[in-house]
Amino acid sequence: MKKLITILVLFFIFFAGHSQNHRNCGTMASLKSLQDNDPLLKKKMARIEQDTKKWIKNHGHEKQKSVIIIPVVVHVVYNTSSQNISDAQIQSQIDVLNEDYRRLNSDASNTPSLFDTVAADVEIEFCFAHQAPNGGWTNGVTRTHTSKSSFDLGQNDAKYTSTGGHDAWDRDKYFNIWVVPAIKEGSMGGILGYSQFPGGPAATDGVVIAYHYFGTMGTAQSPFNKGRTLTHEAGHWFSLYHIWGDDGNACWGSDDVEDTPNQASENYGCPSFPHPSCSNTSDMFMNYMDYTDDVCMNMFSEGQKQRMHAAINTSRSALLTSGMCNIVSIDKSSAESVVKIYPNPSKGNITFDFGDINTKGKTTVRVYNSIGQLVFEEMYQDIASLKSIELPNAVNGIYMIHIDSEHFNIVKKLEIHR
Ligand SMILES: [Zn+2]
Repeated sequence: MKKLITILVLFFIFFAGHSQNHRNCGTMASLKSLQDNDPLLKKKMARIEQDTKKWIKNHGHEKQKSVIIIPVVVHVVYNTSSQNISDAQIQSQIDVLNEDYRRLNSDASNTPSLFDTVAADVEIEFCFAHQAPNGGWTNGVTRTHTSKSSFDLGQNDAKYTSTGGHDAWDRDKYFNIWVVPAIKEGSMGGILGYSQFPGGPAATDGVVIAYHYFGTMGTAQSPFNKGRTLTHEAGHWFSLYHIWGDDGNACWGSDDVEDTPNQASENYGCPSFPHPSCSNTSDMFMNYMDYTDDVCMNMFSEGQKQRMHAAINTSRSALLTSGMCNIVSIDKSSAESVVKIYPNPSKGNITFDFGDINTKGKTTVRVYNSIGQLVFEEMYQDIASLKSIELPNAVNGIYMIHIDSEHFNIVKKLEIHR
């Protein structure tokens, strides 16, 4: 009997992890686990809530001076090669964030007119970090192979290198996002993602998303293939609560936002409008903080925007001066050790391997022979990180290759031997 139960549980985990039909966010479960481990966290979050309300009272209706830019790092933690999602898939996710938080989403017109007046351009944008914690250049993505096929939200094991994940980058400078094979809570699988509210520990601050629910292409699976899982989880990270107030099916709970209607419980799938509960005209089920399918979500409210701006101006204010998206030049000595030229000696066909360093912008390659005559010159825009050139007319001998880019200048010696 015990064996049968084990098999059934494993069966459930397998299917819950592979064909998820209902949105399942682990943020409140993660919060409970953090609070169980830290008796002071509740108090700390209550103080943050006071700061939030005070900030909204004093600044909530001021016009935003400029759009807030949040530097992002995406830690891809993969077990199988298909879980090592492409840069293009990661880009598709950040594109969705930028559309949803600026109300540039193409489905904004689906917001019912009842709620259109409170639908907000949140005026927050997200950029890939270009400076790593060690000062070097990064494309804003780390990739780590792990032996684990799933991670536990209570243990937060995705967030530590020592437990098969990847350590967080400084949360005062980066918004950490982990993409993992699967997320479970104890023996329960099928969690799309989870987030940490302001006030939680620095080492675990950020959002974790399972790779089936990240971005709009590649491994993203319907009905969660429009990137809204991260839009939702980032909302929690900016201190938003679920729109129904996490009170089960009751009407007393609140998300502490005035312009979202009081709502009984979460909505799944794609309800048709109006869809009333708790004596409202309709639930705002198309809000990113409900549990509807990606294709049915299309708005944050002005009140939610105020809470998010309160978070970024109080508990998360260090990020305002992060500057981690600015492109850094890498110094000559480190560029010279990173950039490889091969084969060397060569018969005239050579390849440049720029590794991870930034090759955006203009790069000029010049080749001089041993008496200083220019035998090759070419300018490239955004040169590929792996680039081959031909020197068909170069005779046997020693050549100097000068590579000058917006970010580095190096000189390498090459021998031609046909
Ligand atoms: Zn949630």
